[in-house]
Amino acid sequence: MAEQKRDYYEVLGVDKNADDAALKKAYRVLAKKYHPDMNPGDAEAEKKFKEASEAYAVLSDAEKRRQYDQFGHAAFDGGAGGGAGGFGGFDFGGADFSDIFGDIFGDFFGGGRSRSGGRANNGPMKGSNIRTSVRITFEEAVFGCEKEIELNTKDECKTCHGTGAKPGTSPETCSKCGGKGQVVFTQQSFFGTVRNVQACPDCQGTGKVIKEKCTDCHGSGYIPMRKRFAVDIPAGIDNGQCKRLTGQGEPGINGGPRGDVLVEVIVGRHPIFQRQEYNIYSTVPVSFAVAALGGEVVIDTVDGKVIYDVKAGTQTDTRVRLKGKGVPSLRNKDMRGDHYVTLVVQVPDKLSHEAKELLRKFDEESGDSLNAAKRLTGGETSGPTPKKKKGIFK
Ligand SMILES: [Zn+2]
Ligand SMILES: [Zn+2]
Repeated sequence: MAEQKRDYYEVLGVDKNADDAALKKAYRVLAKKYHPDMNPGDAEAEKKFKEASEAYAVLSDAEKRRQYDQFGHAAFDGGAGGGAGGFGGFDFGGADFSDIFGDIFGDFFGGGRSRSGGRANNGPMKGSNIRTSVRITFEEAVFGCEKEIELNTKDECKTCHGTGAKPGTSPETCSKCGGKGQVVFTQQSFFGTVRNVQACPDCQGTGKVIKEKCTDCHGSGYIPMRKRFAVDIPAGIDNGQCKRLTGQGEPGINGGPRGDVLVEVIVGRHPIFQRQEYNIYSTVPVSFAVAALGGEVVIDTVDGKVIYDVKAGTQTDTRVRLKGKGVPSLRNKDMRGDHYVTLVVQVPDKLSHEAKELLRKFDEESGDSLNAAKRLTGGETSGPTPKKKKGIFK
């Protein structure tokens, strides 16, 4: 975020008063020089290309240029630019940029058919992702599991091999857009002439029209189908996280790769365990006598029962840590969180006659309640005499 950004005018090598024609000319030179298609695998060139594209996207837009002139890069930080953000991901948004692209690259990439995907509507495009979800139990999330999911997707039509045209015929180049897949129309507006690029309405941006449709897929090139997938869910996954099945989504367009399947994992609640990150939390009741005298309690963990030695004199809400009994890390199965157990001391509410007698003796022996009451009523406090609570020991 705090990355030092170069001045947009400096990036394009123009002065502050450069007009649109000068900007375009400067960008055209840089874009040709640094375009990723011309410099495959050259990260530095790609960076320069993005930088120049960003500079041009801003300066060629009158409103954005005004904001930039006034506020500099800060105009587009944190969304203050009103939709001008998001350059980092090379998503320039807006139709005006596809206009620029088609215009500049049209001459040397053959009708805007940019191999980098870019903005050319009839170029190869990755197929759509399919989102779905799967429910698993708490333990399945902890230790991983394999689940089968079924979803509606589509596959290339075998009859026409995805062209949508009746076998023996082939799609024809769209006459409206000349196969480019997009049409440009100019519009007069308050700010002057605006050029808009839209997907061609005749061919829906594919650049091709089908005269005789394949009867199996009705010209779509795809057959809807229901598919089953085995999803390997890794140990340590948490509620809301996604497992991606790369290349299992909808078929690509014009030879593009298939999309992905994104499986959101919904983890069911556990009756006794709660989870936070990789740690597990639970509470365990401890009898009054065990808390006072010390002894063993049985604690449920995701690995099974463990016996824990409670120290004599343990207070209620004491938290103990069972190291490594938590959830395995998604990145490294052998690294596990911890299990924190809160020991809750139980006060007995049903006592036999004998037990009551013993407790009275215990009380006399330790002298807690009787002596405390005497101390208070014996005038050691200046406050009002505390009311005797009913029903402690009858
Ligand atoms: Zn077909
Ligand atoms: Zn068309």
